[in-house]
Parts: sequence; structure tokens; C-alpha cells
Amino acid sequence: MQMEKEKIMQYGLLVGGKWIKTEQKMTVTDKYSEQATAYISIAARTEVDEAVELAYAEQSQPFHVADRYEILMRTVELLRERKAVLADVITSETGKPLRDAEAEVERATQTMLFSAEEAKRISGEGVPIEAAVGAHNKMAFSIRVPVGVIAAITPFNLPLNLVCHKIGPAIAAGNSVILKPSEVAPISALKLAELLLEAGLPVNRLHVLTGDGATIGQALIDNKRVAMFSFTGGLKVGAWLRQHAGMRKVVLELGNNSGNIVHHDCDVDRTAKILAARSFANAGQVCISVQRIYVQEEISKLLLERLKFYTEQLVVGNPREEKTDIGPMISRKEAIRIEQWVNEAVQDGAVIVAGGKRDGAFYTPTIVTGATPSASICREEIFGPVVVVETYNGVDEAIAKVNDSDYGLQAGVFTNQLQTAMKAAYEIRAGAVIINDTSSFRVDHMPYGGIKQSGLGGKEGPRYAIQEMTDERLIVLDRF
Ligand code: NAD
Repeated sequence: MQMEKEKIMQYGLLVGGKWIKTEQKMTVTDKYSEQATAYISIAARTEVDEAVELAYAEQSQPFHVADRYEILMRTVELLRERKAVLADVITSETGKPLRDAEAEVERATQTMLFSAEEAKRISGEGVPIEAAVGAHNKMAFSIRVPVGVIAAITPFNLPLNLVCHKIGPAIAAGNSVILKPSEVAPISALKLAELLLEAGLPVNRLHVLTGDGATIGQALIDNKRVAMFSFTGGLKVGAWLRQHAGMRKVVLELGNNSGNIVHHDCDVDRTAKILAARSFANAGQVCISVQRIYVQEEISKLLLERLKFYTEQLVVGNPREEKTDIGPMISRKEAIRIEQWVNEAVQDGAVIVAGGKRDGAFYTPTIVTGATPSASICREEIFGPVVVVETYNGVDEAIAKVNDSDYGLQAGVFTNQLQTAMKAAYEIRAGAVIINDTSSFRVDHMPYGGIKQSGLGGKEGPRYAIQEMTDERLIVLDRF
């Protein structure tokens, strides 16, 4: 059914506390109905420069820690109050089931709460410089100061919580933020900005620029008042930002093709159940989603059978229905890409054990075996509801297979042997190794971030992000 024109909301850019509607617009769709739900404004270089100038000037205004804390705590309250509305927006703009959207709002609330709490703990340290020969008359300590204007660029898959992971710590640390949310799922970020203003955030501390990533990205790179880029998204854009940011700080939180080891001594049924639940959530569009499963030969038949059983219980459908586990992918184009990658693997000898069917933007939860390690579904980040299962004999082989990746964000290991767990913990090259849960475990205050092509420049999680979003300044005193 065609949605009536007047029901389509129009959103402006947020610059200097005002919502500015531009003539050029982009359409945002409901990912289930594929109908237009909103028009967003498109920022040009002029609006980018205006926002950066205001954000930069604001840095000379006082912004006391107690005020930052109060504003973030009020935002926490508002997020709790508006949970239902925000979850509804997230479901519409991403297609994820309503209960997952509610869980995202709860996580976003926690992220803001942790940010508020960390605001009170920002401090430098005493430095015993008098220990150096000739420095006995001096004392020193360090303080942590805001870096200044931070460009925060975010992806579509957790459109509220990942924005909170940037704005929360940035505000806690006393910075000003230029936010560029995903153009396909920008509405929850715009709603969050409304809440922050309602909570009393000084208007020039946050500007939100929607529109084309390349145009806004180029304007931000060209504007030397931007002190730092905090980016979550794909490798291509991340690498471009790194290349062009020059001497400025860049934090990149990128993708993964997460490896998970299932050792013979684990509880196979429990493991299969957890793997099925975590591999396909959000239609696999999670940077730490389970992608490669390595199972020890002797339990492989049983694991595959249980995994298939639990996977086939998952309900694919309308994200607003309570029974739904998996909604559509972000677009038909993405579902077609997944279909092509799976088909290519099958042409090269892989076998589909479950799923493997596309209907519009839907792709059924899919298990593939026998794929060659060079297949795109193994080597690239699939970012869709597909897992590849392969067997191994010894633990060294399993670890080598997990490490045979350009990425290194998180990995999972299921085992009841301490020795195997310890070996994996030390030898898997990733930002985190999760024992007896999958690679996709995350709570919002843990240090989160990858190595290799999964990330660079620092971890997220409010305490760790604040480290990156502040500079350490040393103060030396001489008693002459
Ligand atoms: P994307 O890289 O296509 O887009 C991310 C953001 O960058 C969007 O806001 C986009 O408009 C913007 N952008 C595009 N071109 C730009 C440019 N030239 N300069 C500046 N900004 C530009 O990613 P996506 O498709 O939205 O998200 C999927 C990716 O995000 C996956 O690779 C996933 O693994 C990754 N991701 C990583 C994490 C993490 O924390 N490590 C979390 C979630 C998603």
C-alpha cells in the first residue's frame, strides 16, 4: 500500500541548535514494507563548515564536569521514557525485530549511563619527575583535556547505540561533536539529538549532518578545525579516512569475519543453541556476528545436526510480530549480494545444509559446509545471515584457521578444558577471545575494538573512548 504523502516526516540538519531543512532530500524507507517513511536533509560543504565553526568556537566556553554528568544522566532518563518510540523507529529504519530494537535502546541507555559515570573519573596522574638527576626542584602531574571537535561517523546496523558510543564519551570528555549518521537509518540518531537538547546540552556541542557520506566526509577531512575522526563502518571508508586525516587522531571500528571454535569437550547441544541464536541475529548484520565455525571432527556430525535443528526453528518475517526472530536485511541489494556469494561457493563445491533462499530483502538463516577457504563467504566479511562450518582435528589447526583472516575483532571458543581455553586466549589474534560464548558477545563498557583490518587507533566502551577523546597534558612546577 502506498503511504500517504502527508505521513512522511521531514527532518532537518541540526546546526547551532536549529533544525535546517534543505531543498535536496533523501528518502528513508521502512525496511520491511520498503515504503518511504521520512525525508532527510542533505548537508553540503557550507553546512559542514558552519557546524564545525560553531563547534570549534564552543570549545572556548566552560563546560563543567558536573554539568556534563547531569546532562548525560537526564538523557538516560529520557531514553528510558521514550524507549517504545525509539524502538519503533529502529525497527522501521533497520528492519530488525521489535524486541531486538528494544534491547538496542536498553543498551544505548547503558552506554549513556556509563559515559555519565566515567565523566567523573577523568583524571591524569602524578609524575615523579624529581627522580631525574637535576629535577629535584620540580614536581609534575598530568591532566586530560578535550581534543576539541570530533567528527563521529556511524553505520546502519545499530543506529542508536553506536551513536551513543561516540556522543556519550565525547560529551563526557568535554568535546564538541559533528555527527554523520548512516543515511539509510538516520532517524533514531536525530531523535537522540532531540533528547540531548531537551536534557540541556549546549546547542553547539552537537551538530547532526545527514546526507551523502562521501560529500560530508570530504568536507570534514578538508576542515582542519576537526581534531579527530571516530568512525564505525566498513573497511573501505575507514581506510580512506585514515589516509586523508593527516596528523589528526583517527579511531576506526571496522568489520570482521568472526571465527568460532567448537572443541570436542564442550556441551554440544548448548553450543549449537547459542550459535544459532547469535549467528543470525539482526540478519547477521553485526560486526562480530558468527561467520566461520570450526568444529572438531569427532563431534562435527552432531553439532551440525543440532545447529541445523535450532537454525530452522528461527522465525523469519515481519519484524513487528512478536514471534519473529529475523527480519529483512537492510536492502534487497545486500540480500542479492549474499545470495551471489553463497551461490559462488556452491559452484565451487560447497553444500547448503540449511536456508539458502532469498525473497526480496529477506535471506533465510543459512548454514554452508565444504566451502573453500578462498570463497568470499569465508574470506570477506559476509555481514548477512550465513555461517560456514568446517572441521578440524587438533587445536593448533583450529587456531590457525581462525587466524587465517585479514580481520581480528573478536573470536569465540567452546571448550571445557582450561588448557585449550588458555591456549586459544593467548594464540588467537583478535581484540577479544570469548570462552564458552560466541564472538558476538558484547556489553557496552568493555574495551571493544579489533586489530588487523578490524580497527585502529583505540578501543570503544566509554572509559576507553574517553582516553582517545582526551589529550594528556603534563604540568611541570618549579619551586625555584
Ligand atoms: P559504511 O562504511 O558503508 O558506512 C558507514 C558510515 O560512513 C555511513 O554513515 C556512511 O554514510 C559514511 N560514509 C560513506 N562514505 C564516506 C566517506 N567517504 N567519508 C566519510 N563517511 C562516509 O558501513 P555500513 O554499511 O553503514 O555498516 C556496515 C559496516 O560497519 C560493516 O563493515 C560492519 O562490520 C561495520 N561495523 C563495525 C562495528 C564495530 O564496532 N567494529 C560496529 C558496527 C558495524
